[in-house]
Amino acid sequence: TFISDTVPEAPQDPLFSVTSAFYDDPSDKKIDLSIGAYRDGKGKVWVLPVVKKAAALVALDPEYTHEYLPITGLVEFTDAARKVCLGAESGAIKERRVTSLQTVSGTGALHLGALFLSKFYRPNGIDKPPTIYVSSPTWSNHPQILGLAHLPIATYRYFDAANRSLDFAGMLADIASAPPKSVILLHACAHNPTGIDPSPAQWKQLASVMAERHHFAFFDSAYQGFASGSLDRDAAAIRLFASYGFEMCIAQSFAKNCGIYGQRVGCFHFITSPALDADVQDTLTRVGSQLALLQRACISNPPVYGARVVSLILNTPELFDEWAEDLRVMSGRILHMRQQLRIRLEQLGTPGSWQHITDQIGMFSFTGLTEEQCLLMQRAHIYMPLNGRISMAGLNLENLEYFVRAMDRVVR
Ligand code: PLP
Repeated sequence: TFISDTVPEAPQDPLFSVTSAFYDDPSDKKIDLSIGAYRDGKGKVWVLPVVKKAAALVALDPEYTHEYLPITGLVEFTDAARKVCLGAESGAIKERRVTSLQTVSGTGALHLGALFLSKFYRPNGIDKPPTIYVSSPTWSNHPQILGLAHLPIATYRYFDAANRSLDFAGMLADIASAPPKSVILLHACAHNPTGIDPSPAQWKQLASVMAERHHFAFFDSAYQGFASGSLDRDAAAIRLFASYGFEMCIAQSFAKNCGIYGQRVGCFHFITSPALDADVQDTLTRVGSQLALLQRACISNPPVYGARVVSLILNTPELFDEWAEDLRVMSGRILHMRQQLRIRLEQLGTPGSWQHITDQIGMFSFTGLTEEQCLLMQRAHIYMPLNGRISMAGLNLENLEYFVRAMDRVVR
């Protein structure tokens, strides 16, 4: 017998199978609304102008080589990335309470954080990896990543399907009733897949409850700047929690906000509490050394090219300003599509309320279409996952009318 004899076939990733069905469809009407990657007003992949410029500068740099980076990554990149999410004026940075490692994009950062918690976090005297609470629903890769690190997974309520809104009372109640010192995974902004975020006042309530319960916040930040167009506004939840003095961590991705998906540029940040009794630098040395050991075992050291490009943008004021402008272009087009989609559905008198489309934020909209309706959409050459989530970036003024008419038909 061979090892391979006993290996069952794994289920296909549901999202990627929708995308491949799109590619196989010869129709010229087809629309891909599955994958969370930005497309411009013509439906084309968009390389951010600032990324093109920075990449050209890296290519011309005689100092640039393909040498290995240190295990923890490119320091000028991780230092700048930390300021992007926590803010240049962050107390945690000034008090040197943060340790950061460059990772294989957001996925790698989630993975590293999950491994660390699985190995070292033993709340309430129980000698096994802690349960991590994720929103229901959440990004479909979260359970897979966390499960790989042997973290048991539980959910907190999030989406109120009847009202297509946030079930804040349910969310708060579930987080409040989780055992003390639980790990709570929070989407920093532009929740995937629902597109619904807590309001600033609700974030404050969540922070208070989490402080009372001594929970540990694990932020997933995959869309900073992409949601509202403002890096600061999209980091408000993270910065609020940091200002409460939590010990917490952040998985930060530059895939979407730099449109640099395949280069795998990300960062993991671990922040110690200002209330720590032990010496901060000694603590960070211990934590950082263990994170480095895990990183060494997983990837040895992170990829160099994309980090150089992003680092140049973050550390050059003119390029940083251009990046901010590119973010406004992407988020502005998406907001415009949300408005147009809602207006056109309302003009057609498509049954139902469509306000949620403009209330939601970020790359995705949870349309509320049922599985059956999504399958009917596929017959009209419109490809979306069966949970009714659409990537707003796949819509543009050329295909919107066709999309709206199809949606109107399947809803009636
Ligand atoms: N977290 C969420 C919620 C996401 O939607 C994504 C990407 O789709 C990621 C993390 C990680 O993406 P990447 O590994 O490409 O940075």
